[in-house]
Parts: sequence; structure tokens; C-alpha cells
Amino acid sequence: MKIHEYQGKEILQKFGVATPQGGVAFSADEAAAVAQRLGGTLWVVKAQIHAGGRGKGGGVKIAKSIDEVRSLATQMLGMRLVTHQTGPEGKIVKRLLIEQGVNIARELYVGITLDRARAMNVVMASTEGGVEIEKVAAETPGKIVKEYVDPSAGFKQFQARKLAFALGLEGDAFKNGVKFLLALYKAYEATDASLAEINPLVVTKEGAVLALDAKINFDDNALFRHPDFAALRDLNEEEPLEIEASKSNLNYIKLDGNVGCMVNGAGLAMATMDIIKLAGGEPANFLDVGGGASAQTVESGFKIILADKNVKAILINIFGGIVRCDRVATGVVEAAKKVKVDIPIVIRLAGTNADLAAEILKNSGLSFLVAENLKDAAEKVTNALAA
Ligand code: ADP
Ligand code: MG
Repeated sequence: MKIHEYQGKEILQKFGVATPQGGVAFSADEAAAVAQRLGGTLWVVKAQIHAGGRGKGGGVKIAKSIDEVRSLATQMLGMRLVTHQTGPEGKIVKRLLIEQGVNIARELYVGITLDRARAMNVVMASTEGGVEIEKVAAETPGKIVKEYVDPSAGFKQFQARKLAFALGLEGDAFKNGVKFLLALYKAYEATDASLAEINPLVVTKEGAVLALDAKINFDDNALFRHPDFAALRDLNEEEPLEIEASKSNLNYIKLDGNVGCMVNGAGLAMATMDIIKLAGGEPANFLDVGGGASAQTVESGFKIILADKNVKAILINIFGGIVRCDRVATGVVEAAKKVKVDIPIVIRLAGTNADLAAEILKNSGLSFLVAENLKDAAEKVTNALAA
């Protein structure tokens, strides 16, 4: 689960991580009021979307007066912000973070995530902050310093000092940096985050060390331990079809291709996507209807696939283990009758009650393309695209 920068900063503050003062605004009036409350002479108006690269895209602007805060807020609210992370369609800005302007001396990078290969959390630091860290990782990986965290020992003082030293921090900034890193790790661990990325981490002219940006992602599998995080979800930032799918307990991820897929089991779904690509097609989605898919679930899945206008053919690939093929076939037939389907549907059903399922499909009066096996299914569906 992703959250906004301002939400991430509010959480970080609770753990003693230093950030600039700021507040969220949903209108230009609110933006002006937040700036008034913050006081000072310099403010930053920041578009809140679930994507980075906002600075370059025009989503982070400096204001020198309350009037300027108001006019920047007016410009930014409702704008379509395109960054390298949003895709060409961009994101409509609906919330702003109004923040104190900070006197930046240096822009650094700190990130914490799970290194799956080592089965340990890793705390990464780099002097190359403020820029795309992916670029640094690809071109000058030596400029990212890493400390792995032994789960039984936790993130130790000496590791924080090592990283602060690698960041070139000295004097007060060094002490503040060590404190910052320890607090950030505490926040990451306590919130069951899967990512806590601070880019940039800044050293101010006064020697303070602050999170100027904050990207926090939570592990979905741990959300049940944090019921209060539900309020942080912004459905506006999520793919509408994925929200719809989650209501029906479907595991659906939208992709860019044109072959809609409905499969039971995540492994088989991955294999199905692979074999579609191998046959020269492009999957439009990942959809796992689950082990015990009912006719109802299949119907919901079917509707969600069809709601994607890019879908030009559908491949249904079900292995009947716990789920019975006849149930799936009934669901598909019912759904196909309800929803007007004018694209080819290729079906491969194997396992429990496959014969019954074939019978149901045949007697449905609908024209399904029945495949013998997985390879045949992938070929039939890509051929159907070309036809
Ligand atoms: P993004 O990563 O989406 O581009 P950031 O929050 O990192 O957004 O902001 C981009 C840049 O804007 C920062 O690298 C920094 O130079 C500047 N900036 C952001 N917030 C402030 C602030 N409160 N005071 C001064 N400059 C800021
Ligand atoms: Mg940033």
C-alpha cells in the first residue's frame, strides 16, 4: 500500500524523524491558511500524488508570499501532472502539501527496504540525493553505501554512524544524521513498511538533517496489524479496476497488453502470461480468481477483464483442483450471457469435472474456442487477435 508524502511525514514525525513543518490542503484557501499558520517567508507548494519526479514535472514550486502560495495552489490543484513515474497519462492533482521552505546545504539519499535475496532489511545511503536513485544504482553503484540489518540484532548505532560518515556528515550534522537514521529505521520496522525512502535527505545551512521528501510503502500482508492505516488509503490514486477486483477478492493487476487472462492460482497465472508472450501476444492483466472460485467470482473477474478497453481476446485457463471446472464453466457462460461479449474467448479447462465443463460450454449456445492444452490455448488466443 502506498501513501502520500504528507501522510508519510506525519508518521515519521511520531517516531522522532525530523521533517520540515507543513500541512495538507485541498483548496487554495486551505493552502493559504496553512502557509499563514506556518509563518516565515518561504513556502513550498507540493503536489501530492503517488509518484515521484514531481519536481521536474512542475509539481514542486517555491512561493515567497502567501499570495503566491494561493496562486500556485490554484494552478496546481486539478492539473494533470506527468512525471517519469506516472506514465504518459499522468495524475490529476487533488491534494497539496504546503511546507516551510528550507535552506538546503546538501541533498543526500537514504532508503530502507527488504533485500529478499539476503532475507534482511538493508539501509542504503548515498551522497547523490535529489536525483533519480535508479540512475545512480545503474551507473555508479559504488556511490550507494549499504548496511544490512541482522533481524535478531536490529539496526545498531555503529551502523548508523558508518552511514552518517559515508554521507560526509560532520559535527552537529553527524549527530543529527545518526539520530535520523535510527529513528527512520524504528519507523520502518514499527509500521511494517516495505519501503521508506527519503530523497532528498537534506542538511540545512544550520546543520539540521531533515526528510525533505518521504516515500513510505506498507506491506499489504501486515495491514491487519495497523487498522488505522486504512484511513490513509487514497482510492483516487489506485487503478479503478483493481479497486473493483479487490471488492470481489480477486487478485487483479492491470497491464498494457490486449489478451485478457483469467486463471486460478498465482503460479498458473504467471505461467499463462509467459506462454502468451511466447506465442507472440501481450497479456492485458494478471488475474488469479483463487483456488475456490465460485460462479460469482468468475463472473466478477470476467466483467473486470471486459471493462479494460484494450482487451481484444480472452484466455481462460483453469486447472480444476479444489475448484471444479463445471462451476467455472457455469460462471463463464452466465457472465458471457449477461455482459455483451464481442471478442473471442479461448478456454482451457483441465482437471476435476473437465468433461462436464466441456459439455456446459458446448450446450451454451455461445461460441467459445476450446483449447486442448496450454500451448494450444496461447496459440489460439494470439491467432484470434490477428483474425
Ligand atoms: P520529487 O522527488 O517528487 O521530485 P521532492 O519532494 O523530492 O519531490 O522535491 C523535489 C525538490 O524540490 C527537492 O529535491 C528540493 O530541492 C526541493 N524541495 C522540496 N521540498 C522543499 C522544501 N520544503 N524546501 C526547499 N526545497 C524543497
Ligand atoms: Mg524526491
